[in-house]
Amino acid sequence: MKSTMMSTPLSLNRIFEYGTTMFPGTEIVSRLPDKSLRTHSFAQLRQRTRALAAALRKLGLRKGDRVATLCWNHHAHLEAYFGIPAAGGVMHTLNLRLAPEEIGWIAHHAQDRFLIVDDILLPLYEQFAKLHGFERVIVFPFSGAPVATRAGDPHEGEAAIDDYEQLLRDAPAQFEYAEHDENDPVAMCYTSGTTGKPKGVVYSHRSTVLHSLTICLPDAIALSARDVVMPVTPMFHANSWGIPYAAVMQGSKLVFPGPHLHADDLLDLMQAQPPTLALGVPTIWLSLIQTYEANPGRWTLPQGFRSLVGGAAVPEGLIRAFAKHGLSVQQGWGMTETSPLATVFYEKPELQGQLTQDQWYARRTLAGVLVPMVEFRLMDEEGREVAWNGRDVGELQVRGPYITGSYHEVPQDPDKFTADGWLRTGDVAAIDEHGYMRIADRTKDLIKSGGEWISSVDLENTIMGHPAVAEAAVVAVAHPKWTERPLACVVLKPGASLGAEELRGFLAERMARWQVPDAIEFVDAIPRTSTGKFWKLKLREQYRDWTWPEAGA
Ligand code: ADP
Repeated sequence: MKSTMMSTPLSLNRIFEYGTTMFPGTEIVSRLPDKSLRTHSFAQLRQRTRALAAALRKLGLRKGDRVATLCWNHHAHLEAYFGIPAAGGVMHTLNLRLAPEEIGWIAHHAQDRFLIVDDILLPLYEQFAKLHGFERVIVFPFSGAPVATRAGDPHEGEAAIDDYEQLLRDAPAQFEYAEHDENDPVAMCYTSGTTGKPKGVVYSHRSTVLHSLTICLPDAIALSARDVVMPVTPMFHANSWGIPYAAVMQGSKLVFPGPHLHADDLLDLMQAQPPTLALGVPTIWLSLIQTYEANPGRWTLPQGFRSLVGGAAVPEGLIRAFAKHGLSVQQGWGMTETSPLATVFYEKPELQGQLTQDQWYARRTLAGVLVPMVEFRLMDEEGREVAWNGRDVGELQVRGPYITGSYHEVPQDPDKFTADGWLRTGDVAAIDEHGYMRIADRTKDLIKSGGEWISSVDLENTIMGHPAVAEAAVVAVAHPKWTERPLACVVLKPGASLGAEELRGFLAERMARWQVPDAIEFVDAIPRTSTGKFWKLKLREQYRDWTWPEAGA
């Protein structure tokens, strides 16, 4: 017997057509370099995106060609999200916070043909231009200054330079979507290389549509036409967690912060355009709430606002600080490889009314439960499945229709994928009886002390629970007797004072004695990765030659 259903392919173009025709009046607000706001409607998004796609075709874009973007979060970047695939191309977001040599390496590895770049980022482009010969560089006049175009010279390896707005104005009026299969690629993103060389993940129409649908479910992010979404997560970081696609599908208003990501800039924007949902890594929200509290009366936080936080462990202190101001934090877990949202926190009915307030807060530090379509399992070092009891940890492995099954042009590696087709995440986790997942650590960040494992994440969260502490990151340093011991780098809140002994006393009341770090360094700041997470690799390098006063003891 055969199904009678139509086999219409899942298509990103359908999401786009649906959102922009059903919600033509929905607004997209972008913060420009001079901090003024520009507003477009979804009707304009539709017209401009189709013009971009038609212009790219006119420039000779072929199916499967990569078009890179080097842009902040704004309306034109959103146009690229849909316009490049509409023309049959593959959008490749470049991470503007990487070193120029790394960006050049990535663009070359992906064989990007065209580049769309913000005018204010041209100086960065110049620094890696020699490492990869783009054929055309399309400059978006984000600052409003005129673009100096040029014809280019392919024999000299000189790229042509176009003005984005001029291309849109000159685009052919007629446009048809490129034909495609649902498994054709739409976008690619390189892992940010926190733990190794960057690797390319390529998303398809099918994976992007399924991810957009599942994250909008009521027990996931419940994104709707009534939402005002502020994506602080860069559009080059796992496609801003897939939210721009989902927001267009749902007709949610978008407020883009442009290049202004300091806490006071975000608070100004939240005041002017109150969001109902914002997304970012924990470090963004930690500094936002500290700035807010240090300036009483300067801003009013939007009530009912929720923040989707992920990319790194969410400290309980952050959840409590938000709650104090009537705001909620929803945690999600994911990776560039997982599109990215694979688990999201929500309170299952079986837990409602069952928890004390402290248990309630503690539970909110968990990474959440699976969204439909994705499967997870925990495996021990012998390849046996670890029970879901909330205590025992194992390597987290995932699979599903929007989980990558390989990396772009990288030979299949058994360290990354199992023989039976699961992605090895490199995260160590526990899952409890209710299906809630807790990330204990990244495999590389666990601290092996005297035959026992210490979770750097647990330690950081406990340290950040001290009222004088603004931020803390914990790394392993070699120890002559214990193999490794934790070293804690601690940033104090402005004006606060705290000694190492006092902090150790605080920790000893909350964790086993042998887990309490002997080495505590008070520092001014913790280095950040290109996506704003604590950069532990850098810290490990910094403290590689750490010597213990009682070495050998
Ligand atoms: P990178 O590996 O360069 O940081 P990703 O943004 O893809 O790039 O990071 C994915 C990783 O981020 C996960 O493997 C995990 O270690 C960490 N992560 C993501 N969400 C969470 C979370 N909610 N709690 C703890 N760690 C998280």
